[in-house]
Parts: sequence; structure tokens; C-alpha cells
Amino acid sequence: MYKKIGKIVLIIGALCLVFVLAIGFIKDRKNTNEVTATGNSIKTKKDNNEQENDSKEEDNSVKELRISEENLSLKIGDKYNVEVKGLLADGSLIDLTNDSKLLRHSDNEEKISIIDGEIVVLDRAEADDEVTITYVYENISATINVKVEATEELKKEEPEKEEPKEEPKEEPKEEPKQENNESKQNNNYNSNDDTVMIDEDGKQVITNQKDIHVLVNKQRNLPSDYVPDDLIQPDIKFSFTHEDPKRYLREEAAHALERLVAQAKEEGIEIVGVSGYRSYKRQETIFNYNVKKRGYEAANKVSAKPGQSEHQTGLAIDVSCAGVNYKLQEKLGELKEGKWLAENAHKFGFIIRYELGKEDITGYQYEPWHIRYLGEDLAKDVYEKGLTYEEYFEQYML
Ligand SMILES: [Zn+2]
Repeated sequence: MYKKIGKIVLIIGALCLVFVLAIGFIKDRKNTNEVTATGNSIKTKKDNNEQENDSKEEDNSVKELRISEENLSLKIGDKYNVEVKGLLADGSLIDLTNDSKLLRHSDNEEKISIIDGEIVVLDRAEADDEVTITYVYENISATINVKVEATEELKKEEPEKEEPKEEPKEEPKEEPKQENNESKQNNNYNSNDDTVMIDEDGKQVITNQKDIHVLVNKQRNLPSDYVPDDLIQPDIKFSFTHEDPKRYLREEAAHALERLVAQAKEEGIEIVGVSGYRSYKRQETIFNYNVKKRGYEAANKVSAKPGQSEHQTGLAIDVSCAGVNYKLQEKLGELKEGKWLAENAHKFGFIIRYELGKEDITGYQYEPWHIRYLGEDLAKDVYEKGLTYEEYFEQYML
């Protein structure tokens, strides 16, 4: 009789224990999710239930995540690899950084993304943005806060050497003085040239905007309402992961770029897209933003006027590579990726549009990252003659 009661008590006891443990487990899973959502600095969780089990069965599972940083301050374009370690029951640490079970999540993918396991600050980010990155290993999580540092003010004496990553500063390099610029526009006008007409303000407006061979520069303006009607997204890797008009190019150029990137890859060279199509409106926003922030003259130095950016044609794209952290820097030209581009882009119909030492002709400083689609025949000819597109246009196309 007592034995029987004892047995029943034991069974009820066991059932209660299972129930309590199950509740504990569910509760703790919730806690873990809350930590992930609120995104405070390092907090780790592991449910008690599992800890008990672990101590009986598998003493060496991970109890806690240890991250090399709690708070990070990064600039736009920066890439950062955080070291993640797991604390085991016996007090030892194992490196989980490259463990395939370690998951990473950004709570604002548009600004800071995880690319190949690294934290990458995208060009959409702005100074003082804060983004939480959550690391999850099995059911343990830890978070770090990443704050975006202000990009250095554009140097006043020294001309800007790269297209800054912060959006409103894109496409710098422009003649500072408006008056000079405008008088130049008229001086450069060639009456044999039917690819432009002069509008009521004396401005040259391009008439063959849909032509793959269209020449756009600081004298020759695209119509403000021109939007290519065959924009598509090339199937290549970009330096950011979000959806963006910058991913687009005109169809012919997009497919040519896919072939270029694939051939490069075959030769062990990784070329990544950074910025392709840019609308007149977008350029206007960038330009007006800069006028407001810096005044007209300075704005003119750091951003192209709307209508004067080759990116509006959908035939130009800025590309980069890991060696310069996917930034647009002159140094790209010295890397194997930049050299490969300079030697091979024409085979796929692209030219390096703003070459070193040709600033006076193109109006732009050296931009080894800016490639322009002209079609294979023309690109090859421009390349072989060693001319800028301005020179070639004048000598062979008028
Ligand atoms: Zn560009």
C-alpha cells in the first residue's frame, strides 16, 4: 500500500518537474527574444533547464557569448570583423567567429549590414546613426551597438580625391565658379554638333540622350526629365544589400557588366558594384543639400549639378573591391582589381571615363572606379587610341 502511494507520489513529482522545466524553458526563450529586440549591450542568456541538463550530460556546451567589442564607432564605408567567443562550462573559451552556427543580425540592414560575416557601414548611414547587431549561437544571444561616426569634413585646401560615401556628398569634383563654368559652356559649343541644342539660358542640352554613345559632362546637360526606359538590375554583387535605384543600369550595359564581373572572377578578381543609375531628382537633392549645407561654391566642388552626372544615363557605374573596403578611392587604380579593369574593361564595352592626368579635359579628377558603357566597338577604339571620350568625340564623332 505505502509502496503504491510512494510510486504515485514519485510519478506526480516527476510530472511536476517536467512541467516546471518546460515553463522555465518557454519563459527563457521569451527573454532571449526580448534581449534581441531591445538590443542593449552585451547580455547573454541560457535557460536554466538546459544548464541543468548540460551539467549532467554535456558539460562542454557554450554557456555565454563573449564579444570582442560592446560598442563600436565606425565610419561610412568601414568594415569590421567582430571576434565572438563561447564560454564553456569548464570556464574555457572557444572561438565561434567562423562557426557556421553563429548567426548575425542587424536591426537596420539599410544602414549597417552584415556582408560575409563582417559589419559593413553602408553609404546610406548618417553620422550618429546607431544600429544594434545581434549575435545568436544556438539559443544564446549577445548584442553590440554600432554608432556611425561623422565623416571628416571635406578638406578645404586639398581637392577631394574620392567620391565620399555619404549620399549627399556623392560625385564631388566640379569646377568651383559658376560664371566661369557657364561661359565655358558657350565657348565649347560647336555648331556642327547636333547632339546638343542651346536652351533659352544658353545651356547646352543633349538631344541624343538615349544613344549608347551619348556624351555627358560639365558642359553638356541631360534633359531634366530623362529617365532611361530599360533599367534593369545586373546580377552582380553590390557593396550593400538593400534594394536601391543605384543597383540599376540600362539593359545592354547591365548584361555587359555581368560578363565583365564573371570574367574577372574567373581570373581571381572580385569586382563589386557600388553605384550605378542615379536620377536627375536624386542628383538635384544631393546638390541642393550641399548648397544648403556649404553654400553654392563649395557645393559645386563636391557634387555634380543635376543633369551633368553620367550616372543619369544608366550607362555608368562606380565599382570597387575588398582591397579598398568597397570605397571609391584612387588607390583602387594600384590594386590588381583596378589594373584589371583598366586593361580589360573595353573588351566588355566599358572605358575608364576619368583617367589620371586628364583632369583638364574631362573636368574630373582620376576616378579608377567610374566605368562607362559605350558598347564594345566604340570602347575598344577609344581605348586603343588612348583618348578621353571628350577628345575622341571631338576628333572622330563630329
Ligand atoms: Zn561615378
